[in-house]
Amino acid sequence: MSINYDDLLENLGDGVYFVDRQRRITRWNRAAELITGYPASEVIGSCCADNILVHVNDSGQVLCETHCPLTACLEDKKPHEVNVYLHHKDGHRVSVRVRALPLRDQTGEIIGVAELFTDTSDKTANHQRIQELERLALLDQLTQLANRHYIETELSARFEEMTRYGLSFGLLFMDIDHFKQFNDRFGHEVGDLALKNVAKTLQSAARPFDLVGRWGGEEFICIIRNIDKKGLAIVGNRCLALVEKTFVPLQHQLENITVSIGATLVRSEDSNQSLLKRADQLMYCSKSAGRNRMTIE
Ligand code: GH3
Ligand code: MG
Ligand code: MG
Repeated sequence: MSINYDDLLENLGDGVYFVDRQRRITRWNRAAELITGYPASEVIGSCCADNILVHVNDSGQVLCETHCPLTACLEDKKPHEVNVYLHHKDGHRVSVRVRALPLRDQTGEIIGVAELFTDTSDKTANHQRIQELERLALLDQLTQLANRHYIETELSARFEEMTRYGLSFGLLFMDIDHFKQFNDRFGHEVGDLALKNVAKTLQSAARPFDLVGRWGGEEFICIIRNIDKKGLAIVGNRCLALVEKTFVPLQHQLENITVSIGATLVRSEDSNQSLLKRADQLMYCSKSAGRNRMTIE
């Protein structure tokens, strides 16, 4: 079995390039293109001393003339490793760990150098940090649903969409029934578990592009995009039915939970506040009518 080293080289996560003894670039892999922004076609054949990458150290000193790892490697025929900042085609600097290794032919003669470079700028960590911040700012910590702030932002976006493109949307305002009693009977921790379970159920009851969020306490909101009254009733009834079949496992029994829902479609004269208020009032109609039901208007 022969190994396709070409393929391997192209698919490495590290940037790799080869230079000959005159430091002319003969090979430039895909990762090198990604890390530097230079396509192979622009660099193959040119000399790396033409200052394509213009490595600098952390005091900004250009290394090409004096401390080039490729030159050092050609001279002492040993690998060299150094942290540098290369020049990206867009103009910014990228911190990389560079390893220069001598390339030899079958007779052992040095025919050039391979330079491997790894992007060490901590993009992943940074990206993860940003995602974490977003998560903290926009998600409710207990249920991992959108929080009130997120819901308000989303509502504004839906109003904007309605004004611009005439897309209607609907709102479900949901409140868990007798939840105070539930907490009193089973304790706050079991109550928290119930909230988490209801959150998961509502998430599956909604469609992927609808937004389910926790408005506060034991209240949830679902913003349903691009829907008519009939469709809204279908989603609302699905939420009712699935929450009713949502249980909190206790030691000897499964305790079930229900919600009361107010459902309404947006109206042209609505604002965030008027829409929320109407949905909330409709939810209270469901409470007065006996709970575990939906009032839609
Ligand atoms: P109704 O059917 O009229 O809605 O009755 P209710 O008892 O659900 O209404 P009420 O507003 O009186 O009580 C809400 C309860 O929700 C009180 C509070 O202890 C509980 N609750 C709010 N947030 C949380 C929470 O984060 N965790 C737990 N376990 N309980 C919460
Ligand atoms: Mg409530
Ligand atoms: Mg309640």
